[in-house]
Amino acid sequence: MNADTTSAGTRDEKTPPRREGATLTVEDLSVHYGGVCAVSSIGFTVEPGQSVGIIGANGAGKTSTLKALMGLVPRSGGRVTFGDTDLAKVRARDVVRHGIGYVPEGRHVFPGLTVEKNLMLGAYARSWRDTGTREALAGVYELFPVLAEMRSRLAGALSGGQQQMLAVGRALMARPRLILLDEPSMGLSPKLVEDILAVLLRLREEGLSLLLVEQNAKLTFEATSDCVVMENGEVAMTGTSRELRDDVRVRRIYLGL
Ligand code: ATP
Repeated sequence: MNADTTSAGTRDEKTPPRREGATLTVEDLSVHYGGVCAVSSIGFTVEPGQSVGIIGANGAGKTSTLKALMGLVPRSGGRVTFGDTDLAKVRARDVVRHGIGYVPEGRHVFPGLTVEKNLMLGAYARSWRDTGTREALAGVYELFPVLAEMRSRLAGALSGGQQQMLAVGRALMARPRLILLDEPSMGLSPKLVEDILAVLLRLREEGLSLLLVEQNAKLTFEATSDCVVMENGEVAMTGTSRELRDDVRVRRIYLGL
């Protein structure tokens, strides 16, 4: 049964869709910008409830991978499916309706809108607005009490860490089954990185699938169960986060140890 339908097969406008898991499967994905190859035939999966990290240096192709999954840059090759859905057949603006949330690099909150209006924008893809939206908003405020306190403030007045929480909260408003996060720790102090880690672990506990792209390998190994190491657009290594954290080469290059 589709998560958006009742047993009678009709959409129930009052009931938020259940978070049924689906597997993200990436096969031979490539991305080119003109003659520049940013991503070269990479593959990995994210199972329901699994948390997967992609680490890599500047320019390794991490952001291009996430953008290609969301349909924000053209895929020059390969296949991406989420459950039974071939994402090549889904317009970028509709990907969120299939249960994939996206927190872009640099947060991109709307500084001139209040915190609550920013959050409500995350519910734009929902057709079960009334009760469902209120419940989702309550859930986000429970996860991020600081956003509840600041709900009437302009987003532009929030600190970097609070804006990151707002960006995550906005993605959660659509009740995703999988959330893609692009460098949520970027520009944050070590204390705020700890706060972001706590949020990621909480999302994991709730059974949400995570795909986390980071330059911060330490955070990624703590937040995820499995990792992909990208180098020059290719998958250089895969393994459990624990295995990779203990790998001599990874420790030297990505942890500076
Ligand atoms: P960062 O951590 O700096 O965000 P990244 O691992 O996310 O790096 P990408 O941003 O995906 O890497 O970039 C991969 C390659 O593609 C780089 O060589 C980059 O210069 C190139 N690239 C990215 N975006 C574009 C674009 N719009 N046009 C041309 N080349 C691009």
